[in-house]
Amino acid sequence: AKTDSFGIEESLKELAQLADTAGLHVVGSTYQKLASPNPRTYIGSGKVAEIKTAIQALEVETVIFDDELSPGQLRNLEKAFGGDVRVCDRTALILDIFNQRAATHEAALQVELAQMEYQLPRLTRLWTHLERQAGGKVKGMGEKQIEVDKRILRDRIAALKKELESVRRHRKLYRNRRVSVPIPVVSLVGYTNAGKSTLLNRLTGSNVLAEDRLFATLDPTTRRVQVKNGKQFLLTDTVGFIQKLPTMLVAAFRATLEEISESSLLVHVVDISHPLAEQQIDTVEKVLSELDVSSAPVLMVWNKVDKVSDPEKVKAEAKRRGDVVCISALTGEGLDDFCNAIQEKLKDSMVRVEALVP
Ligand code: GDP
Repeated sequence: AKTDSFGIEESLKELAQLADTAGLHVVGSTYQKLASPNPRTYIGSGKVAEIKTAIQALEVETVIFDDELSPGQLRNLEKAFGGDVRVCDRTALILDIFNQRAATHEAALQVELAQMEYQLPRLTRLWTHLERQAGGKVKGMGEKQIEVDKRILRDRIAALKKELESVRRHRKLYRNRRVSVPIPVVSLVGYTNAGKSTLLNRLTGSNVLAEDRLFATLDPTTRRVQVKNGKQFLLTDTVGFIQKLPTMLVAAFRATLEEISESSLLVHVVDISHPLAEQQIDTVEKVLSELDVSSAPVLMVWNKVDKVSDPEKVKAEAKRRGDVVCISALTGEGLDDFCNAIQEKLKDSMVRVEALVP
């Protein structure tokens, strides 16, 4: 029901990709233009009926909304669709993916925290179900139980925050030790699916998960890259950005992204074959500026040049802009130029580091 600069179709396409990443099979999508969302059901009653018909015809198990739904809307929609149809929104879907992908203790804690905070205002739902099942007999009890459950959730949230803090402190110590080693840290940032993991694999021969799915990389993964002239640097992969990452999740993954602020250099990987590459660049730059890492130099690389229809035109455009390296992480094209550009960008910090070594 909302239009932004990316357009509805693009946003729904990304949502479908997210659903695929979560392991769901997408059978269809639809949208509706309304002056403002329906407060009860988000979409209008006609649309609700239309989707209900589709649910029955296609045996749909899950309906995902692209915007965040209020707890009430969620409840009303589930009631309207009936049966065991699960209704969720973009935030819940992303949380599912994060949950599946959390590889380290810290990431798992972050995901659990975000899930608890997401659930807290939505707790009523469970108990209204129970009340219905019991034919309204447990009415008062349900309400009391909600209070108890909310307190349990709040306690768990407080405990999680405490544990996260201690994990972070530990990581900071570890990182400080690493910084004292004269190896510069280079962080790969970029839109999700831009090819960061592929590039990391390509440069280091490591086995970081690369697949055509969103969020293939959740935790920062660091590898050492040895360049031909004997110089080396640490290369770190980061979680990818998406167009509509709910603010709540950005905050939950701060520590993951914090790694970036310790970098000597950020490499911004762009899928230049994507029709919305320009907007994706803007999104990443906006998120970076919000993360307050603007002091680190940035090297932009245009990846997937093997996939564009007119590679020469793209390369000419990169040249015209300057400071942009065209590569293909898949075929290996341009990787020597890429490593040279990194060396060039790192020269200052390397010289400084080497001057300190007696
Ligand atoms: P990440 O989310 O940024 O880590 O992206 P991935 O490394 O997982 O890559 C996403 C998809 O793009 C995968 O299917 C890769 O095989 C593909 N890909 C990555 N680099 C290239 C490239 O240079 N050319 C082409 N054609 N595909 C690529």
